[in-house]
Amino acid sequence: MKTHLLALLLAVSACFGETVQHRGIWLHPEQYRTPQLADEWIGKIAAAHLNVVYPLVWYRGGTAWFKSKLSPMAGDVPEGFDPLGNLVKLARARGIAVHAWFVNGEYGGPATHGVFTLHPDWQLRGDRGGEAWYDLGKPVVRNFQRDLMLECLKNYDVDGLHFDYIRYSGQVICDCDHCQHEFEQKYGFRPMKRSEERFPVLLDIVSNPLGKQTTAKVLATFDHGVPAITVNQLDAGEAVLVNWQAAGRSCWALDNFVEDTMKRFGATAENTYQLNTTQTAAKYGPIKEEGVRVWLKGLGFPAKLIDERVLAKVPEGGTVVLAGQYLMSEETTTWLESFVRAGGHCLFVDGPALSIKHAPLQRVTGLRVSAGYFHDRKVISPAADQDVLKPGPPMDAAKERQRMEKWAEYRTWTVTELVRAVYKGAKKLKPRAWVNAAVFYNKEHADRVCQDWYGWLREGCIDYVLPMAYTEKNEDLAKAFAEWRAADPQMERIIPGLSIYSRKDGKAVPRDPDLVRSQLDMCRDHATHGNLFFALGYLNDELIKSLSTGPFAAPARPYYPPRR
Ligand SMILES: [Zn+2]
Repeated sequence: MKTHLLALLLAVSACFGETVQHRGIWLHPEQYRTPQLADEWIGKIAAAHLNVVYPLVWYRGGTAWFKSKLSPMAGDVPEGFDPLGNLVKLARARGIAVHAWFVNGEYGGPATHGVFTLHPDWQLRGDRGGEAWYDLGKPVVRNFQRDLMLECLKNYDVDGLHFDYIRYSGQVICDCDHCQHEFEQKYGFRPMKRSEERFPVLLDIVSNPLGKQTTAKVLATFDHGVPAITVNQLDAGEAVLVNWQAAGRSCWALDNFVEDTMKRFGATAENTYQLNTTQTAAKYGPIKEEGVRVWLKGLGFPAKLIDERVLAKVPEGGTVVLAGQYLMSEETTTWLESFVRAGGHCLFVDGPALSIKHAPLQRVTGLRVSAGYFHDRKVISPAADQDVLKPGPPMDAAKERQRMEKWAEYRTWTVTELVRAVYKGAKKLKPRAWVNAAVFYNKEHADRVCQDWYGWLREGCIDYVLPMAYTEKNEDLAKAFAEWRAADPQMERIIPGLSIYSRKDGKAVPRDPDLVRSQLDMCRDHATHGNLFFALGYLNDELIKSLSTGPFAAPARPYYPPRR
């Protein structure tokens, strides 16, 4: 009887036009790596009336959450258990589609673990600080990832393959023989080297610079005249400012300078501290095990991380590193001033753009104001009236810029080659499988990391993309919609990725359901065919209720774009 009723209901819904909407969610192994976890979370997914899941199946040093001949099973999986196989079964039983999520570019752990210990040459060479990345420029790496993704598609009843981090960390110069040689063959001239050992250099710069020097001496300038490196003596101490987000930017000339500076400071593991103020951490999140800390450690100067409550630990004459300390209290800046006057040392990396309003910090840095954020390709040249930076040979900036543009073009091509190879292989294996990718939501940012998803859509080597628009600001989301609709007026192949977490006091917490709902309203107003949420770990009962009694009240079948 019940079966008949269900059949009748289905027939009725078909008559009246069934809802078709992509209601996806990303999930991490923490939500399905054991049978118990999978049971618990699939129930929540179904309760929220979601209809597509994107489980993370390969990451963290090249380990898998599915049975593979090519990659070992991740260490957090119970012996003999197959997380993806189990999840597919549970999802199918509830009519939920499954797309296997791979993290392609970023390694997901220190290079001292996992697949890089077997294949050290698979690691991208160029990022001296920061995270480990795959060198997608090498065919052996691309072929491996292609084979792995196709293995998963072949052996599991999944609906598709999902790329993530399908990009580089920037336009990193890989100085491996393969990339250098292949570039030269393609373009007929010498590729970029990571950078020269002496200034001037041409770099992609992200900067919150300080300007208007009072007592600071300018050692180097950007080509629009803003100071790039300054040094300021204050009584017995000294403060050096590297006026941009320098860590992991692979500039040898800068590495040499910072090394010399830290030596001059007498910086040691015992007397060097990195200050991350509670105010900065609350606004921008805690300092991760990457970036400036890893960079300085790589140069031989490990620093202990502290906040302003334990500044008393820093010994007189020691060194305090301040990277991206945009916010600090006046009290902290007063402490810094007396510390430096008494013979202490400060190394600022990127300008403390908001804290510079405090007069003590102006005296420490010898600079007065913020000089305005920029993200641009700039030449950094040694200043004329200084003898700290020994200038290298003069640079033909126009020629270097062209070289750098071609390098970006070449690196972008290597990423696209992987997308093409997987797309082609997947369609051959299972013509109805969907190949899709999580991408940077704004074209300019995507271009900077060699992720040409506009090109993939045009060419047809991806079925659809999921731009990660995790912003809490609806005005930013509105701008994104304008950009997406210009590329895809019907929003057929762009399915927005929205966040269901927010940052509070430096921690990720479930997002206010009203904000989630307001962003879903925007999706509806822009006639999207659904969306994807990041991520399942933040799906709480409040949001489940809000979705299942609100915009997702009617059950829906997943939307997919028209077949090409
Ligand atoms: Zn390479």
